Amino acid sequence: MRIPVIAGNWKMHKTISESLDYLEAFRTVGEKNGVETVLCGPFLTLPALVEGTENSSIGIGAQNMHWEEQGAFTGEVSPSMLRDLGVPYVIVGHSERRTLFGETDESVRNKVRAALAHDLVPILCVGETIEEREDGRTQEIVRKQTVEAVQELSSKEMARVIVAYEPVWAIGTGRSATAEDAQDVVAFIRRILADQFDQQVANQVRILYGGSVKPANIDELLQMDDIDGALVGGASLDPESFGQLVDAAA
Ligand code: PGA
Repeated sequence: MRIPVIAGNWKMHKTISESLDYLEAFRTVGEKNGVETVLCGPFLTLPALVEGTENSSIGIGAQNMHWEEQGAFTGEVSPSMLRDLGVPYVIVGHSERRTLFGETDESVRNKVRAALAHDLVPILCVGETIEEREDGRTQEIVRKQTVEAVQELSSKEMARVIVAYEPVWAIGTGRSATAEDAQDVVAFIRRILADQFDQQVANQVRILYGGSVKPANIDELLQMDDIDGALVGGASLDPESFGQLVDAAA
């Protein structure tokens, strides 16, 4: 049995005080047994979020990090800094980081490895653009991004990774993949993991769908056999909507 994960990605939204207001509202609606609930805020909000969720089942995540321990990397945050703060999750390889900030398959691989080495759970994002989908290259792209990110991991490490299939054309566009299309690609990712590792690992890894997930479409997505939850941008900004998504997975 895979425990479902509902992870919110606030992106570059919310000040510290807005985060605390959110938490207050969310804690009354968002704490549900049997769902791993994760909130990924901007770096500056993380200390307040960690403190504000101390005695709760809500996990806090960063949206990015560098893979090195420390050094001359102006503007970057290291895995040990996150660990020291008590942050258990980190999003790695989000398509906005890949396209807007030049993140490559190699840097994604370094980050996944560094996260695991520091006992952080990486939420690894993969997904094709609209051009790639229309050219019939979805599987090729998703395979490349997945394999390149996880190829050096042990089976034990892989089992701790959360993968998020996020078709780039569905992110922030209001145009979600259909549940069937999302299921097809998520099942394909599970087959890649079975090839690269073994069936047992493939059965253990939680694979999420992301891209315009909202209360209106979460149920059909979660009904799919291989979809274990969602990575949510826009709809995670409002505590009520995010609470409804967590509810749907409970
Ligand atoms: P969205 O973003 O839910 O706003 O489409 C998803 C994501 O970027 O993770």
